[in-house]
Amino acid sequence: MRLIIFGPPGAGKGTQASLLETRRGLVQISTGDIIREAMKNETPVGKEAKAYVEKGELVPDTVVRKLAENAIADEDYDDYVLDGYPRTTQQAEWLTEFCEENDTPIDAVLSLSVPDEVIVERLSRRRVHAETGETYHLDHDPPPADIDPDLIVQRDDDQPETVRNRLAVYRDETEPLEEYYESRDLLLTVNGEGDIEDVYERIDSVLDERVATRA
Ligand code: ADP
Ligand code: ADP
Repeated sequence: MRLIIFGPPGAGKGTQASLLETRRGLVQISTGDIIREAMKNETPVGKEAKAYVEKGELVPDTVVRKLAENAIADEDYDDYVLDGYPRTTQQAEWLTEFCEENDTPIDAVLSLSVPDEVIVERLSRRRVHAETGETYHLDHDPPPADIDPDLIVQRDDDQPETVRNRLAVYRDETEPLEEYYESRDLLLTVNGEGDIEDVYERIDSVLDERVATRA
């Protein structure tokens, strides 16, 4: 199955994509994770991306396109969930072409809907493991007690001012993709509020339904 998980920053895309990986065997392809890893290793892509990420802007389409397409090819074009890609109409059009060329179209786009006040709360309480990149939430998904607390850090782009910019960029550039996928009959909207497990159950059942109706 080939999926996209879509939604504003902090909606829970990464959290749910990682559950889809362990429970449905889909490999999580997160362009955000790939970019952060490149920044940590100071690769040419990482150096180019840094200024954009730090300001809460999008990294240029041409750069992210290559990262996403290489990652999909690495999975033999199947059994993946794209987390954080595409984020612009240009990226979505390239992805459609890329999948068509390989005869492996996207099966569904899960859109997590979460009100703004919940997003702001989730991002202000998000913490990550400095080495593994594993994501936690101080209240809803706290880091295990045996992890050195010095390794639990806040992402630089989760500071309130950068979050405001990321949300504005989301509204301007990314949200229109809902219509793009709706018109292709791929959009499955899921309520992203409530416990992590409750959200996963909703996702699991809409995917089962989709598989049953397309069979
Ligand atoms: P979040 O999980 O909060 O939605 P990500 O970890 O997916 O954020 O992305 C972090 C940053 O990496 C983005 O703010 C952006 O600068 C960059 N980035 C990630 N994916 C893309 C993309 N598809 N297009 C452009 N920039 C991206
Ligand atoms: P995204 O990838 O969309 O930016 P994340 O998966 O990183 O979102 O989630 C943002 C923050 O909210 C993280 O701290 C995560 O642990 C937490 N979180 C995710 N889903 C839920 C949920 N259903 N309820 C409460 N907190 C959640």
